[in-house]
Amino acid sequence: MTMSGSELRQKFLDYFARHGHTVVRSSPLVPAQDPTLLFTNAGMVQFKSVFLGEERREYVRAATAQKCVRAGGKHNDLENVGRTARHHTFFEMLGNFSFGDYFKEQAIALCWELLTSELGLPKDRLKATVFTDDDDAFALWKRVAGLGEEKILRLGEKDNFWAMGDTGPCGPCSEVHFHQGDHIPCAEEQAGRKCLGPACDCDRWLEIWNLVFMQFNRDASGKMTPLPKPSIDTGMGLERIAAVLQGKQSNYDTDLLRPLLGHVEGLSKIPYGSDAEHDVSMRVIADHARAATFLITDGVTPSNEWRGYVLRRIMRRAMRHGRMLGLTEPFLWSVTGTVVEIMSGAYPEIAEAHSRVAAAVRQEEERFAYTLDLGTAKIREYLGAHATDTGKVVDGKFLFTLYDTHGFPTDLAKEVFEDAGFTVPPEAMQKFEDEMEAQRARARAGASFGGAADDEGSVEIFRQLSTQFPKPEFLGYAQMATPARVLALVSGGRRLTEASQGETVEVILDRTPAYAESGGQMGDTGAIIGRDGQGVIEDTYYRSGQMIVHRVRVTQGRLRENQEVAVSVESRRRQGLRLHHTGTHLLHAALRRVLGTHVAQAGSLVAPDHLRFDFSHGSAVKDSEVSKIEDLVNEHVQANIVVTPAEMDLKAALQSGAMALFGEKYGDRVRVIRIGDFSTELCGGTHLDSTGQIGLFKVVSEGAVASGVRRMEAVTGEAALRHVGQEEAALRESAGLLKIPPLELPQRLQKLLDEQKQLERQVRELKARDAKRGLQDLKPTEVAGVPLLAERLDGLDAEGLRSVMDALRERMGSGVICLGSSMDGKVALVASVSKDLTKRVQAGKLVQEMAAIVGGKGGGRPDLAQGGGPDASRLDEALARVKSLILPTGAV
Ligand SMILES: [Zn+2]
Ligand SMILES: [Zn+2]
Repeated sequence: MTMSGSELRQKFLDYFARHGHTVVRSSPLVPAQDPTLLFTNAGMVQFKSVFLGEERREYVRAATAQKCVRAGGKHNDLENVGRTARHHTFFEMLGNFSFGDYFKEQAIALCWELLTSELGLPKDRLKATVFTDDDDAFALWKRVAGLGEEKILRLGEKDNFWAMGDTGPCGPCSEVHFHQGDHIPCAEEQAGRKCLGPACDCDRWLEIWNLVFMQFNRDASGKMTPLPKPSIDTGMGLERIAAVLQGKQSNYDTDLLRPLLGHVEGLSKIPYGSDAEHDVSMRVIADHARAATFLITDGVTPSNEWRGYVLRRIMRRAMRHGRMLGLTEPFLWSVTGTVVEIMSGAYPEIAEAHSRVAAAVRQEEERFAYTLDLGTAKIREYLGAHATDTGKVVDGKFLFTLYDTHGFPTDLAKEVFEDAGFTVPPEAMQKFEDEMEAQRARARAGASFGGAADDEGSVEIFRQLSTQFPKPEFLGYAQMATPARVLALVSGGRRLTEASQGETVEVILDRTPAYAESGGQMGDTGAIIGRDGQGVIEDTYYRSGQMIVHRVRVTQGRLRENQEVAVSVESRRRQGLRLHHTGTHLLHAALRRVLGTHVAQAGSLVAPDHLRFDFSHGSAVKDSEVSKIEDLVNEHVQANIVVTPAEMDLKAALQSGAMALFGEKYGDRVRVIRIGDFSTELCGGTHLDSTGQIGLFKVVSEGAVASGVRRMEAVTGEAALRHVGQEEAALRESAGLLKIPPLELPQRLQKLLDEQKQLERQVRELKARDAKRGLQDLKPTEVAGVPLLAERLDGLDAEGLRSVMDALRERMGSGVICLGSSMDGKVALVASVSKDLTKRVQAGKLVQEMAAIVGGKGGGRPDLAQGGGPDASRLDEALARVKSLILPTGAV
């Protein structure tokens, strides 16, 4: 019976509570008392002032399960996370603490009893390490734990001495190591030397618990004086000890992390374990989803500074690995849901914060998607152009262009390059810095105008403008054109007095009919015409909260600050937006009526030619339900219901039953869109006057975006007619190929599919029969007294191989059979071992070894097993390996 991670956590805390410890809640990841520390990275952080004697608590013994993040810095290189079985950014640290109460003897006794009696670890698989000259600890491990001297290692300062900082409390430490087994590879041994046991870098001996004996105080000169009240600080990584107790080689295979890999498997449709690089990506996502969930819960928000930047880096790295798994839509936010499922029992705060967390992650994903795709494409181009370079060294100037022109983060670029076998030497980084410096100098000299917008400068300038000018008046509900005054022109983060032909500028007007992108509705396009110039409005959006900004390309003459202009909205596009926005409200209402009121909007996009609606719903929407939803919407279209907007108090609106979006910020006065008694929503968008203008509403797709979230895409009006037309044409063409009327297509296709299945089965049977006949003359070879048949039979699938093997087994009696086949570039493997030989050779092991050679997986019972892999070019090698796996009697 294995213990779950949650049970283990609880068992640890209960045990120490029974031994007089106060169980203290985990402190937040943002350390309250230590503004210089990036994140809480160990259990002792919240007790630092207690250890330093600056603060007294009601208790002298404590135990915690502490959430920790280590990312960047000396403790953890982000790049390693996902590549190993044990690196994490987020992890939990179990610890017991004594503040001047018990010391070494009881610390060791408590540790030993918990490990061996409570958790049942076998004593003969445990060893301890102590600091070189810590004779006390050495003697205690002998006496208290009964360890033989050969099981207590003395190690140096690097491994077994701890210090809080350059000055302050410090002392020797002592670690407990668990023997995972000598079958685990060891680099020392492979180099012909001996494994160093607990001191070795290999995984044969795993450090599971570190006991720190805070004994001294070190001053600035390095002098150490004994502390009056020595203390104890211990730490045991929960994921690690869970892996040991659950018999897993990797922390990621424990129940604390495995379900997250499962979630990613579900999204990507790639099984974990099928490909080493994909596995790395899945582990990265699993780990980073945990870190993001806990960091955002504890108040960190993605930004370009310090803690926010580390969080952003973590999320962006996960997004990149999502792309490597083929996930092109936002996905990470949905993984945070599984984190909540696994962990909210112990950390209820993540459940409470979840909607906020999911929204923040999703927003970051949406913001970064374009940059990521563009940057990755540019890097791919670069890799292609430099594939034959001898040095495979990245040019710092290219990194600068990526960053400067495309906004692609340099650390991420570095990692992509390194994954592709390129190196980014210090000289390249120096060149990057030089380019940055040159760029800053150009900006200071005022030489850079227009072109790529300097985003940070823009943020600042719009913040200033929003304090200087009142918020622009939006007239677009009623008017499509209006006279206005140009309040400001901005380019590249700088105010301009005028912009001339060919330039693109951000324009702020005192009033405008153009709708700025919000609530899912895309921004308007249009035109600005002045006395001595004009421009095209390419997009309209908000900056700095309420400033409506028009991105304008000047097409003629010039536009000037303070100038009177005429502004108009492109009406055809706007009409498309109105159609699809009102369509979205009808769809939302219909979904709630057909599927149930649990349906809540999770995101939406209103474009001129289609709409997209994400909503919470546990299962796929059935075809019959989609029809019902469409019918219900179209009924309300045909009834031509008047759409009435109204302004009211937020409270009144909510009381009247208007649907509001969770997590959305609303002012005190809100706009409510009512469509008869069918739909009432808080909404600032632009709508039709009556539903009849929609003409026709068609759902074009329905699918999952994440667990529990569905996405529907639909079209209205002209776009809907076009969609129906296209479908009809495809239907006619298909029917034409079969020479039948379109309405007979479903039955006819079903019949054809059935026939095809039957034919495939016949082909399989024929091939197997053929193969069996060819094997009549095969004679097994003898290996160490065991009859062995290891044959390659290309063109058979696993089922075919099995049927051949069954025939051979009957004929051969005692012996070992391994068959492999390559089909469509993939390898299938089967093995059988007659019962009398399974003590010496196991089919499961044979397949496991062979599959590893062809880059896949496999296993099964000692007498029967199967597997496969992607690399057919190594199938012969895999089959040849079998001989060496059949060991002579007595060698086991
Ligand atoms: Zn070793
Ligand atoms: Zn709306």
